Amino acid sequence: MESPLMAPDRADRPRGPPVADMAGANEPGANEPGASGPPAGLLAIFAHPDDESFGAGGVMALAAASGNPVWVLCATNGDQGGRPGEVGVDHSFDPEIRREELACACKALGVAEPIFLGYRDSGMEGWGAPEGSLSLAPQDEVVERILAVIHRLRPAVIVTFDPGGVYGHPDHTACSATATAAYRLAAAEPGGPVALYHQALPRSFVTGMQAAQEAERRRSGDDKPPTEDDLRQQEAFVKLARPDEEITTIVNIVPVAERKIAALACHDSQMRGRQWDDPEQRAEMERMFGTETFIRVDPPPVPGEKEDRFTGLEWSGE
Ligand SMILES: [Zn+2]
Repeated sequence: MESPLMAPDRADRPRGPPVADMAGANEPGANEPGASGPPAGLLAIFAHPDDESFGAGGVMALAAASGNPVWVLCATNGDQGGRPGEVGVDHSFDPEIRREELACACKALGVAEPIFLGYRDSGMEGWGAPEGSLSLAPQDEVVERILAVIHRLRPAVIVTFDPGGVYGHPDHTACSATATAAYRLAAAEPGGPVALYHQALPRSFVTGMQAAQEAERRRSGDDKPPTEDDLRQQEAFVKLARPDEEITTIVNIVPVAERKIAALACHDSQMRGRQWDDPEQRAEMERMFGTETFIRVDPPPVPGEKEDRFTGLEWSGE
């Protein structure tokens, strides 16, 4: 489910720009079992189709362009897209549509075909999670299934949400907890992954973005007051953002911003009327997507350590 920071309105769903075939897409299974070499590449573990592109699409595109195998493991089918407070709106989505959208995004980013755990989307807090959803699944079961994927792919680096899941979505927090636990188990084994990153937003970014959105709302003459759900979510974003000094890793993704935007455009069912060819909206996207921010959880940073790329990957930039 997309970040409501990015969800101005539910409206028509125009098709995004066509996505060109990306040269150099990774072969899935480039690092298959039985491989005896060191672990290699990046496994991004997120909850819904579109989380990967918002949070780490730029890093994935950069890693792929640098020659690393890159995979996306998506825990749910994203079948409950939508926003709280949309009274009378059917939040259910055909899982096939969202799976196809993720496949499209992976192609845009130049990474391998997505892998799904197939849980149902829990929907947002207060919607009542359906049977079979990620947040209701036993934690041990999810950890074990993620661990099996890690064993098969043998990535060097794993990235997932930070514990607050950016804004507290129950699937995001479940994904962070289980992926982190699976990493810990795998990293303790010989030939296991060597670095874990949590995707996190610095608080200054969230407050700045909310102020800009509020200014934009006033400028456009939208005098509709935010709903209670909107306000609660805005608060959750600020509360769950991380103090700026805790962010260890700030990656400049400008060289691959086009790929990230193309990947986001693939998630057509979630984009709610965003006009990809509107120069103002485009400029806003580019402002928002200049960097991606993470906390390196393992190996733990020494106090004050900062980096501009992921440890454990080949990194040539683009
Ligand atoms: Zn999500």
